[in-house]
Amino acid sequence: MEKKACIAMVPCPGHGHLIPLLEFAKLLLLHHGNDFHVTFLIPTLGPPSPSTIAIIDTLPSNIHFTFLPPINIQDLHLQSPNPVPQMILTVRHSLPSLRQSLSSLSSRTKLVALVLDQFSLDALHLAKEFKISSYIAYSSGAATLSFELSFPKFDESVPESEFLDFEQTMDVPGCGYASFKVKDLPDPILFHRSSDVYTTYLSVCQKSLLVDGIIVNTFNDLEPEAIRALQQGKALRTPSPSVYPVGPVVAQPKQKTEVDECVAWLNHQPSKSVLYVCFGSGGTLSQEQINEIAFGLELSGHKFLWVVRVPSEIPNAGYVIGEKEKDPIQYLPPGFVNRTKGQGLVVPSWAPQIEILAHGSTGGFLSHCGWNSTLESIVHGVPMIAWPLFAEQRMNAILLTDELRVAVRPQGDKEDRMVKRDEIAEVVKRIMDHNDEEGLEMRKRIQDLSDAAAVALSENGSSTKALSSLAHELLNKSI
Ligand code: UDP
Repeated sequence: MEKKACIAMVPCPGHGHLIPLLEFAKLLLLHHGNDFHVTFLIPTLGPPSPSTIAIIDTLPSNIHFTFLPPINIQDLHLQSPNPVPQMILTVRHSLPSLRQSLSSLSSRTKLVALVLDQFSLDALHLAKEFKISSYIAYSSGAATLSFELSFPKFDESVPESEFLDFEQTMDVPGCGYASFKVKDLPDPILFHRSSDVYTTYLSVCQKSLLVDGIIVNTFNDLEPEAIRALQQGKALRTPSPSVYPVGPVVAQPKQKTEVDECVAWLNHQPSKSVLYVCFGSGGTLSQEQINEIAFGLELSGHKFLWVVRVPSEIPNAGYVIGEKEKDPIQYLPPGFVNRTKGQGLVVPSWAPQIEILAHGSTGGFLSHCGWNSTLESIVHGVPMIAWPLFAEQRMNAILLTDELRVAVRPQGDKEDRMVKRDEIAEVVKRIMDHNDEEGLEMRKRIQDLSDAAAVALSENGSSTKALSSLAHELLNKSI
């Protein structure tokens, strides 16, 4: 049997969850590759999408992976198209094949730990069964984690009724910078309390308290109070899971031989002149909102690179299921692409985000504030327009605007939340105009955060130390 300890990692479907787990595995092996190897056991809803396969294909040879047999969406008997039950139930239905894979791994290797996404916690009992320790590689920041660990108590404290009161505030330990209303918090809690979305989410929050440790993709200078609250166990029961802030864990820009279309276009644009517009791996907008963005970008006069998706009234319609076959470009207003030829580039469905954010011509990011996008923008020092859509993105947007002050947020219409073209043009100018004092200050603040992120990941940085103490704990458990 091999001397190195083996870690099994189980992501849940969704690129925003798969990518940070893969990047965490790369980081662990970069620093502690002599001690560990990693195998990914990947549950999928339907066959893996081309972009999932493209992501997996870039893995270094010391990370092994197995796609578990795909789950059929009809077998999940979903009540709603929300991603939370989709992700959790996909993992639940994959448990027999996951157990088999773990059994095979443990017969061949020195299996020491199971690292789960929070939405694959249904597999937690397998850690007990195989007598190994259990961790969550948490896919959002410390503030959201602090909320999720406190949420079961909050739920108990509210008398059973149809919905939580959206206007009620909840104190999130370590987040004194904001008074979060229920409507600002992760969206599963806005559902009926007996719905599958609410109940599966609550069970995730409850189970998160039961693991040995939680690896968080954040760093001390980004969320100092929330990290402290977690490490002091303020949001937790006792004994608390250990908390390891090891971030920012984000992918490195690839050095490709063939130049991608987006990068080729950026190569011809002036420094920091382009606004990158992307709503994560599966965020979607209504047709009317797509039109307003198109006209707003045109009106702003600033350069843009826009990843366009097929419209939907549901903001996370494409999250787990993946790309649609239709061509999204046909949903743009007639004549838009021609009129903006010199001003912008539209890309269907997917773009190399890391390479775009790392490019010197990119000067701003209109983002849905998914946690990976947030960290990627910070790492590359790109100020943001915060446009949260679903999940915990409103919390991330509040952190970016109110606490860190590195983003502006359009208000939208009070009634229907639609953001009109004039407001879009105005926020674009606020971050892209190089004479705008507010924009320049935001640029400076996000550059400072980017520098702090680099320090956290340096040899003696706080995140490198947290990673070492995690590796130490894992090795001790393997003896
Ligand atoms: N991403 C990308 N190209 C795209 C859209 C997304 O490379 O066109 C990547 C992005 O860099 C990030 C991830 O997909 O790493 C999205 O994660 P995030 O947490 O921001 O949002 P989610 O997709 O979970 O809503």
